[in-house]
Amino acid sequence: MPAGSRLALKFLLLLGTVTAMCLMPHRTAVAQDLTYFAPGDILPRTVRGITGRSVSFPEWTFPMEVGSATGLHAYMGTQLRDYHGLQSNNDPRLFNYPHRDNQCEPRSRNVAACPAGKGHQGVDIRANDNADKKWNVVAVEDGVVTLITRNTTVGVKNGNHTVQYLHMDPGSIRDAGIEVGDVIRKGQVLGKVSCFMGGSCATSRHLHFHAYTGTLGEGRFYHVYPSLIAAYRRAWNLSDNVENGELKHDPVRETGAPISGSQSVGSPQASCSGIELGDPPAGVDRNAFSSLWLHNCSVMGLVADTVTGARSFVYYHPKASLKDVVALEPMLFTGVNEAGSFRGQARHYSSRCGTAVFDVSGIAFEENGNPVVEVKGRRPQRNPACEMTGTVEEVLRFTFVERVSPSGPPVDHVIPDDRITLSEKTRNFLAITFYPDENGTIRLLPYFAEFPGLATQGGLTDSAGGLIPALRTDEAGVAISWVWIRKRARFTDGLRVTPRTVAHSMAGVDPGACDSQLRPTPVAVQASGNTAAQDACNRVAAYLRGYVGFANGRDFAGDYFGRRVGVDEELILAEPETAWNWMRTMYSHESGRPPVITRTVFERGLRFGDDYISSFYDGVPDVLKSVEFYQNPCNFAQPECSVPVAGNNVQPAGNGEEQPGATTASDARIEELFRLMLDISARVTALENAAGGP
Ligand SMILES: [Zn+2]
Repeated sequence: MPAGSRLALKFLLLLGTVTAMCLMPHRTAVAQDLTYFAPGDILPRTVRGITGRSVSFPEWTFPMEVGSATGLHAYMGTQLRDYHGLQSNNDPRLFNYPHRDNQCEPRSRNVAACPAGKGHQGVDIRANDNADKKWNVVAVEDGVVTLITRNTTVGVKNGNHTVQYLHMDPGSIRDAGIEVGDVIRKGQVLGKVSCFMGGSCATSRHLHFHAYTGTLGEGRFYHVYPSLIAAYRRAWNLSDNVENGELKHDPVRETGAPISGSQSVGSPQASCSGIELGDPPAGVDRNAFSSLWLHNCSVMGLVADTVTGARSFVYYHPKASLKDVVALEPMLFTGVNEAGSFRGQARHYSSRCGTAVFDVSGIAFEENGNPVVEVKGRRPQRNPACEMTGTVEEVLRFTFVERVSPSGPPVDHVIPDDRITLSEKTRNFLAITFYPDENGTIRLLPYFAEFPGLATQGGLTDSAGGLIPALRTDEAGVAISWVWIRKRARFTDGLRVTPRTVAHSMAGVDPGACDSQLRPTPVAVQASGNTAAQDACNRVAAYLRGYVGFANGRDFAGDYFGRRVGVDEELILAEPETAWNWMRTMYSHESGRPPVITRTVFERGLRFGDDYISSFYDGVPDVLKSVEFYQNPCNFAQPECSVPVAGNNVQPAGNGEEQPGATTASDARIEELFRLMLDISARVTALENAAGGP
């Protein structure tokens, strides 16, 4: 670890233990603390950033007041809680180095320069601390103000490119005297850092910064991080390290190849370097794992079964000193996870005396926002003759690295012939739609944008210009609808809904806005005017007509429940039949006909949705598996298990004659995994840091 980041680490640890420090602006920190990740080293690790180091704008000043003149700092990095594992705007770790590039993070926006062709179009920058309307945003260069919006964006054009500064407080822009048409100068204050998006405080307090050429919609964004690092260095009187238009590697300030941001904080594994996660060892199916973890500088794959609670940690990339000894028995831990308590058996490897198995137990917990599993037990102690002489305590610690995102051929382009309507073709069975903001940008909400079942292409546009994103599989389509009903439906209480509350949520209408006959209430009329209030209630009524036959509508619920369902009848979706009947009712309202999916696809989709909720909302990342996993009936002991599933890269286990339960299917998968792992040792990449063993 370079000296600079060790210093930063010490500072971080100090902050982590003293909560009062949250309130302290970091004026006391010195430039020596400055460290940064390489360009393109973004989160999550499964998405690629732009690794090029071109400094397109060698003359820029940094877009916030920073540097040795003022002692002020700023911190580039992700704003998405799910990636950095931080809980709030005030977490002191948000206001610390290293800087991290976050251009090309998952977003729907077209960005030609990103490897995926889309993503986050610029970088996000935190100020010294989370104070609102306190920290100045300054122009990086001269130009003419061409735009001021409710986002709150100031656009400044200079020659053939435009720079945009987002989310500032609108009052502060006025106070700075900035108006469209003004000529502004490099370093001039444009406004103050705030959280404005779409006219209100709707994002974290940060400056979003990007630059593009041509028109915004063309997606020709510059990779701004190298230019900003160079500007930041200059602000602190450091050499900008730019040579021949490129940001040179700085071995002191540029952090190596850490596994993830939180991994390097206070982790005993911080010294593991050169570990590659991207490519699985030859012959190993990465999708067989739900997530990857670090254990003593080896990368482990976790096999997780949410039905039985079974968990196994299997060597995925063993460190060099272990690769031979673990090759034959790669499963280090096997056991169960019951509500965060782990128990099972672990292996102790010895090339001389052979492998010993011993009982272990422990817990899963969070450390610096990162999941950790720690189990311990007493392993056999053996003398030189390999006779057992006693036991000694051994602790096995696993630190979460990343969820496994399925790779391989995309499965999102094949639309079965039976699909007619927008919701069927996109597999977005509730037609969850996202509309453009005033810049024409369509922004998916994070729960949707980060869903692994989201297709990279294939979304369709509705008549009002909204995007109905497509899902990769039918199970993913069911899953995201289930996430919506469980977590997004605003007026429902957990798994208890009524047709009326769901209709209000689907229509985006406040529950108090319409009376029992779906006429606007006086309060609603006063708030939004007669026409708008009437429109809102009409939208709610349209859902209820389709759902339960309100005002002599279609009544799809009648088809599935076999009876009339009341507008205010409570439906308990924890009951499988009720869930199936009600979700079919909703799907049918969108498509106008019975759903195209079967009951077993639906059940797998619910599991996908439940696992995603555990992962995204509840911070239990180890349960979520690959998209393909949820396509396979054998993983759920469903009757179709005997029939190979088209397009699956996970083959059904067994020969189909007997599938007594999920446990058996899961065991078969683990055996398969074992077989694959036998082959890897010779081909495993040599890893650095060969010291020590479990
Ligand atoms: Zn941003």
